[in-house]
Amino acid sequence: MSQLLIENCAACARWVHPAAGDCPGCGGRLIARPVSGHGTVFTYTVNYHPYNPDIVTPYVIAIVELDEQNGLRVAANIIDCEPDSVTCGMPVDLLPQRGSGGAPLFAPAVR
Ligand SMILES: [Zn+2]
Repeated sequence: MSQLLIENCAACARWVHPAAGDCPGCGGRLIARPVSGHGTVFTYTVNYHPYNPDIVTPYVIAIVELDEQNGLRVAANIIDCEPDSVTCGMPVDLLPQRGSGGAPLFAPAVR
């Protein structure tokens, strides 16, 4: 299972993404750590244009807010569901595979 690594402050345990060098909260050192992979859809858009022939359209480009921390958000694709069924606030889980270009892939959470 591939993990999603996010920079985490060694001093205050704050998650920082995108990586910023030092912790913006306390200036502490950041270390990439795996996150749980649980999150919710913060916002999303459905792409109908075949920019990349390897990806079947339509597909969902989303900003996923990770459960680890309020405001900790990553760009991702949502798969394994109808694009019409995606909603803001929908719980999603990280999938083991990565998408084309290395984007994390999430699917609707089964909890
Ligand atoms: Zn810190």
